[in-house]
Amino acid sequence: MANTADIVIVGGGVHGASTAWHLAKRGAGKIILIEKEGIAAGASGWSSAIVRMHYTLESLTRVAMYGREMFGDWKNIVGVGESGFRQVGFLILFATAEVPHAREVIAMQQRLGINARMITPGEVGDIEPRLVRDDVTAGAWEPNSGHADGSTVANSFISAARDLGVDVRIGPEVLAMTSEGSRVTGVAMSDGVISAETVIVEAGFRTSDLLAEYGVDLPITPVRHAITVVERTPDFGGIHPIVSDRIAETYFRPEAGSLTLIGEHDPMKGPVDEDVEAVKPAELNEQVSQLERFAARFPGQDSASLVRGYTGVYDCSPDFMPAFGRVQALDGLFVGAGFSGHGFKLSPGVGKILSDLVIDGSTDLIDVQPFRVERFAEGDLLGAEDGYMNRSLA
Ligand SMILES: Cc1cc2nc3c(=O)[nH]c(=O)nc-3n(C[C@H](O)[C@H](O)[C@H](O)COP(=O)(O)OP(=O)(O)OC[C@H]3O[C@@H](n4cnc5c(N)ncnc54)[C@H](O)[C@@H]3O)c2cc1C
Repeated sequence: MANTADIVIVGGGVHGASTAWHLAKRGAGKIILIEKEGIAAGASGWSSAIVRMHYTLESLTRVAMYGREMFGDWKNIVGVGESGFRQVGFLILFATAEVPHAREVIAMQQRLGINARMITPGEVGDIEPRLVRDDVTAGAWEPNSGHADGSTVANSFISAARDLGVDVRIGPEVLAMTSEGSRVTGVAMSDGVISAETVIVEAGFRTSDLLAEYGVDLPITPVRHAITVVERTPDFGGIHPIVSDRIAETYFRPEAGSLTLIGEHDPMKGPVDEDVEAVKPAELNEQVSQLERFAARFPGQDSASLVRGYTGVYDCSPDFMPAFGRVQALDGLFVGAGFSGHGFKLSPGVGKILSDLVIDGSTDLIDVQPFRVERFAEGDLLGAEDGYMNRSLA
């Protein structure tokens, strides 16, 4: 097995997989991707995979738009596998305090050409008549949004990347980067060494440890989130859109058949758990609480059946925004991590950005400087003054 490459990617979640495909598509040379557990074994495999474009930052909105286009036209753009995208629409319910912020976001989205609009509680009822709307001041509606599937996307990117010659190795763990002077020279793994001029670390929570050795401070808090799957009652009727209930801090996402996924908004809701590789069910009291919130919005659904409850880990950064781009501490080192529970939809765009940065030294998608990993050590956090932005809508 060859142990030299031009580029090594650490991590086989949606981000590593997307970056591998984007680089290979542009003919970036010999690429090896190392994944210690399995493709999409981390957060990507547990993701609710909601694809919306409601972001406070215009830059992340643009990244999300890139993803929406790719998920929705996977066959033509990637050409291998599928994304599992279903355009069910994304409906947000607001209480009064958030409405001014939401209006600003919608105005920015419309400027960018996104089909999104503020709506009255009455219009919320036109879109989803089964919803309780007494406490809703306003809504926002993105008809072209929906959800895809994390495992399907990661595996499809990997298959497409393999077809383009990427060497995907499942099993070895990257223990550290190797370096000479101020340059990265490759990675040391549990079963050997690979030399490479470029290393891209997209290893979720584990990214922090790999960077720490080079004095890079990427503080990630691993927060284990519960998801409850319920089967709606037979009289419920047809599918509902994705409902982002900002008032009850909960989201409801339709799953196949008559199932609904219920998850939490607050990225810090759940136990901190560094044992991120473990597979753990959701607690019964968490499932009951989530079902109660679903039934409070959709009357009659207190009789919905609990189907299963599972957990997945958010890699929360201090400002709940990701870090991606070049790492200044070591030439040739790049990072993409700290996605804080909303990174699925960003994975196509961040893969493009990282491939542009590696190949061209710059990207035309957005200004990446605000997302530099060094901002944490500098205390220059994104949107520190804006509470709305910091609370994930994922
Ligand atoms: C329950 C849940 C619901 C979510 N819902 C949404 C949503 O609706 N919409 C949205 O946009 N986002 C959502 N997210 C967030 C999204 O899923 C993540 O941001 C995204 O999957 C992160 O992908 P990743 O590739 O960075 O990380 P991961 O998927 O965690 O992949 C990192 C990989 O690196 C590997 N690795 C780690 N260390 C090493 C090492 N030393 N050597 C080799 N391999 C290593 C791991 O095994 C892992 O497979 C959700 C997340 C969870 C948990």
